[in-house]
Order: sequence, then structure tokens, then C-alpha cells
Amino acid sequence: MASTRSNKGTKAKRAAAPEVEQNDAAPEAAAADPAARPLAGRVALVTGASRGIGEAIAKALADEGAAVAVNYVRNKGLADDVVSEIQRTGGTARVFQANVSDEGQVNTLVNDVIGAFGKVDILVNNAGITEDAWFQKMDFLSFNRVVDTNLGSVFSMMKAVIPNMELRGWGRIVNVSSFVGQTGNLTQANYAAAKAGMLGLTKVVALEYATKGITINAVAPGFIETEMIKVIAPKIQEMLLARIPMGRWGQPEEIAKAVLFLVRDGSYITGACLNVNGGVVTAF
Ligand code: NAP
Repeated sequence: MASTRSNKGTKAKRAAAPEVEQNDAAPEAAAADPAARPLAGRVALVTGASRGIGEAIAKALADEGAAVAVNYVRNKGLADDVVSEIQRTGGTARVFQANVSDEGQVNTLVNDVIGAFGKVDILVNNAGITEDAWFQKMDFLSFNRVVDTNLGSVFSMMKAVIPNMELRGWGRIVNVSSFVGQTGNLTQANYAAAKAGMLGLTKVVALEYATKGITINAVAPGFIETEMIKVIAPKIQEMLLARIPMGRWGQPEEIAKAVLFLVRDGSYITGACLNVNGGVVTAF
């Protein structure tokens, strides 16, 4: 597979294969050392980046040179810490508060990020919640909250960001789904519906923008060691762990690596779902 690093070079080369070139908007930093920071000059917006998987993704993108907009909804302190850590390691980041289940707040968020950084090249739709209950005990409000946060947000975020990506004919969108959207899982009717819906939404929008330089993919994590897992009762945790073929929880950084791959090296991948789950789907 062609990498971003092997395609730096002449304008003629770019004209021949523009879809493979990555850093057309990259500034001097990338030109000076393109291999070290392949995303230099890019602007990334990561939803739900105050902790867990989103935090790892924000840091990984910043490590590769992207300026990162760190979105959160409630935990300003944690989001500030993520930004401070990125800045301490020489990266660029800023916090942006917004509830991504609200379309108005999404539009304001995207406008604010464009106001601060000039554009959005990379969007990672990571924000998510669970509200588990047996189906007959799950009320419609809870169903809607989970669907609005996990799926509605992806619809409005993509709508708001894509016109800006189209201006440059380049964009990378990664939607963080879940293996639960593929297999189902007891007590997660709302969450499974949202995460499965995300896969369909990803495929359709990927098709519609396939010729526009914008790739749109999903990553489907298995059980990843974040707050989402830590709140599960220890006995259930043991049961779940026993069902993971690799015998351990995944780490947020392992999801970040998959996102980075799609963003940095995925120039010919669109409408796909990358499973990162320790083998759990085949065993569930
Ligand atoms: P987490 O630790 O609970 O973090 C959730 C993040 O989403 C936080 O940054 C939170 O912000 C943010 N968020 C929640 N609601 C939001 C809203 N309405 N608007 C904006 N931000 C919002 O979760 P995680 O485990 O890292 O999960 C991240 C993603 O991976 C989710 O989409 C989840 O469904 C998916 N996933 C997780 C696992 C797993 O095992 N952990 C497995 C499969 C898929 P605040 O801190 O401000 O609340």
C-alpha cells in the first residue's frame, strides 16, 4: 500500500496521483522532516477527547504533527490536561466544549474550530455513551439519548465538516463504532442500534464522497480498558474477559493506532470497518 511518505515530490507526481499525496497543505515543518511528522499542517477534530479512547487518538494525531481540537462535554479539567500534555510534547491543541448530540452545538463547534485553526482536515467521531438495561426496562428516552449521542452526532458532525474538506478536496473521517454493532450484546439494544447504524451511515457517506478526496471509515473496538469498562461490576468483567480470545482488554492506544493508520496511510480505503478487538467478534 502506498504510504504518505513515499509520495512526496514533484508537482508533476502530485498531478498524476493527487489522491495519494497527503500534505498539499503542509507547511515548512513537514517539508523539513516529512517522515517525522507526516500530519504536519493538518487540523484534526476529535469528539469526546477528554479521556479514554478519544484522548489516545488526540495524542496520537498530535504526535504525528496535526493540530488537534479536543472536544469534551462535561470534563473541562480532563480536556485541559489532554491539551497541556500535547503542548508539553511540542504539539498544538485547544479545547472545545460542545454536546455533540445537539446539532446546533455541533455547527457552533465546527465553526469555532475553523475559526481557531482555519480548517478541519481530519474528523474522528469518537464521543459515545452507554445506558445499559434489559430491553423491556429500557425507556424510549434512554434509547434516544444513546442513539443521539453515538449516531446522531456522527450525522451532524459529518454534515458540518465535509463542506470544509471539499474546499481542499481532501479529508479523513473515522467513526468509532463498536463490535457490539456487529454482534449485539445483552442489555445494549440502544447502543447496538446506534453502533450498527454508524456502520451503515459510514458506508453511504463514503460512497457519496468517494470521488472527492474524502475517505470515511469506521473502527470497531472490542473491550477497551477505559471508564466504560471500569464501571462494569467486577464479576461481569471477569465473564467478559474470559470471552476475549486474546485474554486481555484492549488499550486505548491500540485503537488510536488503527485510526492513525486510516488517516495517514488509508488513501485507498473508504467505507470500511477496521475491527480492533482481540478476536472477540468471532467468539461472541
Ligand atoms: P469514555 O472513557 O466514557 O469517554 C467518553 C468520551 O465521550 C468523553 O470524552 C466524554 O466527554 C465524551 N462525550 C460523551 N458524551 C458526549 C457528548 N454528548 N458530547 C461530546 N462529548 C461527549 O469512553 P471510551 O471508552 O473512551 O469510548 C470512546 C468511544 O469508543 C465511544 O464511542 C464508545 O462507544 C467506543 N467504544 C468503546 C469501547 C470500550 O470498551 N471502552 C468499546 C467499543 C467502542 P466528558 O469527559 O466531557 O464527559
